[in-house]
Amino acid sequence: MNSEPITLVDNHDRAFPYLRLSVTDICNFRCEYCLPDGYHCSSKPKFLTVPEIRRLVTAFAELGVWKIRLTGGEPSVRKDFSDIIKLVSQTPGISTTAFTTNGYRLKDNAQKWFDAGMRNLNVSIDSLNQTTFHKITGHDRLNDVLAGVEKSLEVGFESVKVNVVLLKGVNDTSLDQYLDFVKGRPITVRFIELMQTGDNLDYFRKRHLSADVFRTKLIEQGWIENIRLNGAGPAVNFTHPDYQGAIGLIAPYSKDFCLGCNRLRITATGDLRLCLFGNIGIPLRDLLQSDGQKQQLQARVKKQLNYKKSSHFLAQGETGLIPNLSSTGG
Ligand code: SAM
Ligand code: SF4
Repeated sequence: MNSEPITLVDNHDRAFPYLRLSVTDICNFRCEYCLPDGYHCSSKPKFLTVPEIRRLVTAFAELGVWKIRLTGGEPSVRKDFSDIIKLVSQTPGISTTAFTTNGYRLKDNAQKWFDAGMRNLNVSIDSLNQTTFHKITGHDRLNDVLAGVEKSLEVGFESVKVNVVLLKGVNDTSLDQYLDFVKGRPITVRFIELMQTGDNLDYFRKRHLSADVFRTKLIEQGWIENIRLNGAGPAVNFTHPDYQGAIGLIAPYSKDFCLGCNRLRITATGDLRLCLFGNIGIPLRDLLQSDGQKQQLQARVKKQLNYKKSSHFLAQGETGLIPNLSSTGG
């Protein structure tokens, strides 16, 4: 934990020790609910550079942030990804460095990223069936991704989680397969309800399903819902004495989901997003150009935090600025 006092607190008494930093919008996968047509960009995007990321992370760490998750797009497409890991994990005050990946480069790079200082990993695997995985992501890479997960356990990652977006008619009968998967592995599989974004309304209507379907099944099979610790994030976790791993459910449409919000987001071009589904993007990049701008940067972040709303308005279909999650970092 960061010994700095948490100074990022909003008007609803929520503290923000956790920052999700997107390092690129680019992705090589074409997940049906995210980038069904793949990544396209008309002009060459200019994502935050390593010195800009260093200034940003240093400023947030001094404001009490102790956990940083690198995300995207696919963060590992950046050639300087190991440099980014190193700088984040070595920033004073940052005790937890994590990333979210589609896993396509994991097998070959797990050791390198671990050596650079990465310790916590979320891998997205929406199906354990090869054909279904191929259909969802556009890539026949399930076996590579699974080999990457095994490699991560082998090299000693402290936390390995698997993200599964729950999709009606696609993977909603696969709970038992995932339970088998965590039986002998210290892995948490987290089922995430599909969220509506600017681009995926038709898909959302067809495939969205409440995570409650799995909740009932878990309880019937003897899984125990863990008490949520303060600041523990949005997942409701279940454990079972016969299983090494755990199961989590993330239900963004549930009542009170936003009460436990503990995170802020930075886009790959340096905008602060107060909420994944918010309508405001606050540019920070102009204050990342020299070390001497740190106090101005911190003052801007603190001022903007006053505008963070109590909740998203997803249930009313308001998806805010994002066309898809690859553009803000899911
Ligand atoms: N490319 C990396 C990956 O897929 O893990 C990191 C970025 S991705 C946007 C982060 C997470 O958001 C993934 O677990 C992905 O499945 C999830 N995600 C993307 N779009 C989503 C949506 N509309 N609803 C729920 N989860 C979504
Ligand atoms: Fe890429 Fe991740 Fe979006 Fe899939 S969910 S298209 S892997 S950014």
